[in-house]
Amino acid sequence: MTESIPKAIYLYLKSFLDFCGIRAGVALGLIIFKGFTQGIGILMLIPLLHISGFINTGNYKGKSSQFFSELIDGIGISFTLMHVLLIYVLLVGIYSFFNYYQTILNNKINQEYTQFLRIRLYKAIAYTEWPFFSQCKKSDFTHALTSEIQRISSGTHFFLNLMGSGVIVLIYIVLAFIMSPVLATLTFVSATLLLLMLRPLNKKALNLGSNLRLNSERMYQSLSEHLNGMKETKCYSAEEQQIGRFTRFSQKSLDELLRFNITRSKSLMINEVGAVLFISLLFYLAAEIVHVPILSVLVLVYLFSRILPRISNLHQFYQQLINMLPSFIHINNLQKKCMKSQEVRSDSQSEIFKLKSGIRFEEVNFQYNSHESSQFQICNLNCKIPNSKITAIIGPSGAGKSTMADLLMGLIYPGNGAIFIDQVELTKENVGHWRQLIGYVPQDTFLFNDTIRANLEMVNPKATEKEIWDVLKNAAADDFVKNLVNGLDTIVGERGQSLSGGERQRLALARALLRRPQVIILDEATNSLDESSELKIQSAIQQIRGQCTILVIAHRLSTIKTADQILVLENGKITESGKWEDLQSIQQNKCTFEN
Ligand code: ADP
Repeated sequence: MTESIPKAIYLYLKSFLDFCGIRAGVALGLIIFKGFTQGIGILMLIPLLHISGFINTGNYKGKSSQFFSELIDGIGISFTLMHVLLIYVLLVGIYSFFNYYQTILNNKINQEYTQFLRIRLYKAIAYTEWPFFSQCKKSDFTHALTSEIQRISSGTHFFLNLMGSGVIVLIYIVLAFIMSPVLATLTFVSATLLLLMLRPLNKKALNLGSNLRLNSERMYQSLSEHLNGMKETKCYSAEEQQIGRFTRFSQKSLDELLRFNITRSKSLMINEVGAVLFISLLFYLAAEIVHVPILSVLVLVYLFSRILPRISNLHQFYQQLINMLPSFIHINNLQKKCMKSQEVRSDSQSEIFKLKSGIRFEEVNFQYNSHESSQFQICNLNCKIPNSKITAIIGPSGAGKSTMADLLMGLIYPGNGAIFIDQVELTKENVGHWRQLIGYVPQDTFLFNDTIRANLEMVNPKATEKEIWDVLKNAAADDFVKNLVNGLDTIVGERGQSLSGGERQRLALARALLRRPQVIILDEATNSLDESSELKIQSAIQQIRGQCTILVIAHRLSTIKTADQILVLENGKITESGKWEDLQSIQQNKCTFEN
């Protein structure tokens, strides 16, 4: 964390107060009221005990005692011990009532603030531009949205307690000033000195918080990598390596937590010893040097014995808050980074694209700038993808086929040149509308761990039963779904694991079709399929032929024989284009990239 403690606290406070608004004032008001009822209870203790005659204090008449005598004389009631105790019980009752409301309000504010941070970050991540997102570690997002936000919630809990204790300590100190200005000043100075002495431990709490955050993030990375690559890990018998890596980060996190606990306990010990030393000294000074009446000494000692543990608590809460700050700063920075890379969201309902004639790539240049080592670039690419026809892009792995599809979907943008949908240039401003017209089927299909019906309806929640079965038929998926015991209500498992690769692909195609897209992009969708599954997808493509513009990306030539147009892509350049029978490289068997 590069920010200093005051700067980090300022940023946190600003964010928290901006969110809470008036409620922060209400919470503070309740805390102050609570403090007052508690303070008045203590302040009334001596005069009431004195007035009731329960304790004989000789000739001593303090300021508060005088005030209460006059007040009671005015009311004209003779006070007994019963009255004193009743008033005390009433004050404690009022205190408890405010305490009850304040606890509920604090909890609500904390939970809502946590929820606000989580949803705000989630939205920011969801709308980031693809190039930014694809460079980030997904596990860092998961970690930020779960563990980090949870730490901020704990920190906010401590912050609210810090506020509560802080106000009460302030009120106690004011009361102490009323009773004995000399002793109260002494308390204040001593407490400040004690807190200054503990400053190095605060810095340590911050560093430990930073390390804990980092190790926890690495632990999540290691976990996510292992779970995503579980099959490979098992095949290579690399479980021990993965477990070792995870354990290392987990152990480091544990070490940081234990070290923070030691730091906290050390502070607590220093605070406690300091408090006892101070109360003894205070008692001695009050009784032997300043000669404060014994009843006042007792109340003062009672008061300070309540202040000092609270100062110790204050410090504990403060350290917990500091320990959380690295998580807050990280979330804050991540949020800002995501916001900087936001896609432009257009809420316009007007139809910008209709796709009548087709899509044109005009002098398109593109280069990935994230990987300086990558030599790949698309140079002055020109081509036309006609409407309602099948266009196939073929080429060896790394030729730039998926890059072309990403450009077409507006996930990335040309450095120079432009892509036109009919006559309208595809830009960041209108890409939202354009994507509504696209159905995309990637090689690595994503299905949610839900029913087949839910997976299909996610793109068109209003689809009727007939529409669902129609698209399943078009995608050659109706037979296998009918044969499942639960039909459309079959749960597909995580990422559709309970289905075969071919079935997943056909469901993904059905889902794309249910959106009634004007353009369907099949990005290497049949590459990993067996022959019979591939034939089924082929027949599905034939079924929808003419209904929409189809872009098939493949490096298996058999897939694209029937395409209306084939573009041969090599090193980011179109080297040939035409129908199957027109392509020299195919006819002369020069295509070396077929599997
Ligand atoms: P194809 O789909 O033809 O196999 P791609 O379009 O996926 O090829 O990739 C073309 C080239 O761009 C490859 O050399 C690949 O390494 C590079 N590339 C792809 N994605 C990225 C990225 N996000 N950052 C940097 N380089 C990339």
